[in-house]
Amino acid sequence: MKIITKKKELQIITAKLYKEGKTIGFVPTMGALHDGHLSLIRESKKQNDITIVSIFINPLQFNNKEDLEAYPRTLKEDSKLIQDHADILFFPSFDEMYPHGFQTMVKVGDIGTQLEGEFRPGHFEGMATVILKLFHICRPSKSYFGQKDYQQVLVVRKMIADFYLPIELVMMPTIREKNGLALSSRNKRLSLDERKKAGVIYKTLDQIQKKIKHGYQNKANIEEYIRIEIMKELGITVEYVAVRKAGDLSNIMTTLPKDIVILVAVYVGKVRLIDNVIVYL
Ligand code: AMP
Repeated sequence: MKIITKKKELQIITAKLYKEGKTIGFVPTMGALHDGHLSLIRESKKQNDITIVSIFINPLQFNNKEDLEAYPRTLKEDSKLIQDHADILFFPSFDEMYPHGFQTMVKVGDIGTQLEGEFRPGHFEGMATVILKLFHICRPSKSYFGQKDYQQVLVVRKMIADFYLPIELVMMPTIREKNGLALSSRNKRLSLDERKKAGVIYKTLDQIQKKIKHGYQNKANIEEYIRIEIMKELGITVEYVAVRKAGDLSNIMTTLPKDIVILVAVYVGKVRLIDNVIVYL
């Protein structure tokens, strides 16, 4: 695996690969890599000639300074973990991605202004902007994203469609710990006890999923049930619970549509975690 820090160097390589007709799979990350990231990288390796992984902690998508500063930085371990799976690791500096004078941003629509977009203002604009830049540098035919960040998947999918980008987005399932907790770089900041307790998030989503399939289908009751069950665990607070139509996150009025997604954001102590399940009725 080659580690590249300069965009110019990577652009020369990807242009050459493109000319040769090689397929490029791209996995954008912010590092502190775990098995969730690895599942994306493995799939890319299976489906493409070359796999590029990027590690860039993008300040533009952090609305909370403390969260940005506390974000784990583990390049050595990261490159070790993926060295047999990825061909290129792109690890640019801030100046490399945002040279002096940079001012153009991607503006997201409805899909990205609610839920995460509401509680983390500017998050998706920053994310979409850096992803668009990375797409242009890496020239992938396929790019891999995790369902764990479901709203992110929808925002990027919409950007790809709206900007006619010749890229296929592949969404991969959420990889979880034994107790159901979705793997996340932020889990590194949880104490052992918090990690255990955080199992309640998926346990509740899994329970409600089964209840819905057995006819428990009132949207307000579902949201209330999840909020109460999760908050039973001391030290965990719920920021939002939302039952929405899968695919576009549109609001549900009365009867549940065929495909729904249940999204939650919670604080476990000081650490903010998100999770979701898609329920096919
Ligand atoms: P991040 O480094 O958190 O920006 O994540 C990079 C990519 O890995 C995103 O597409 C995430 O959705 C994905 N990802 C993160 N955690 C998981 C997980 N537990 N399972 C599957 N994909 C994940």
